[in-house]
Amino acid sequence: MRLLIRLLRVLLPAALILLLSASPCAGEEDPVGVWPLRPEPEVVAHFDPPTSPYGPGHRGVDLLGHTGQPVHAALAGTVTYAGPLAGRGVVVVSHGDTRTTYEPVTARVSLGDSVAQGAVLGTLQPFASHCAPRACLHWGWLRGETYLDPLRLVGAGPVRLLPLWRDSPVARAPTPGRLTLPFAGWRPLAAWW
Ligand SMILES: [Zn+2]
Repeated sequence: MRLLIRLLRVLLPAALILLLSASPCAGEEDPVGVWPLRPEPEVVAHFDPPTSPYGPGHRGVDLLGHTGQPVHAALAGTVTYAGPLAGRGVVVVSHGDTRTTYEPVTARVSLGDSVAQGAVLGTLQPFASHCAPRACLHWGWLRGETYLDPLRLVGAGPVRLLPLWRDSPVARAPTPGRLTLPFAGWRPLAAWW
């Protein structure tokens, strides 16, 4: 019995640390956005973040569309860029600490415009596409200089590592005296818990 108590004294704090570190912080919840193309487009190229600022990778996702298709703001925000950049039309919308990017797009909005979620930013251009000769929208999401997977905004990605998968929303504020579980029904792996 004494051995068991001693064992629990050692293991319980370790298990608590593991449990708490596995819980997502309430402040890190992704905002809920909308697809920039309608109806929900096919994702023809996924996010492949570069390991260095100039390294290879895919700094966003490619959504299959057609020339002239309206492109919508995934989140409400302020237009911080709208115009040609390196031979293609680019629209950037700031959402506070993050921003979404849309290209190649013929902009219908102007610098400084406030846009609602789902507002039309412009139309898809036929050239400079990442999936030429098809038309597709390269959609990006950044925080500072860090590229994020924009599919997170529409609940379609990325594939998170266990145990952050969840099958129901986690309460934003943990109830005092109760631990926040990564998802409903989550149990630590240790059988003695
Ligand atoms: Zn792309």
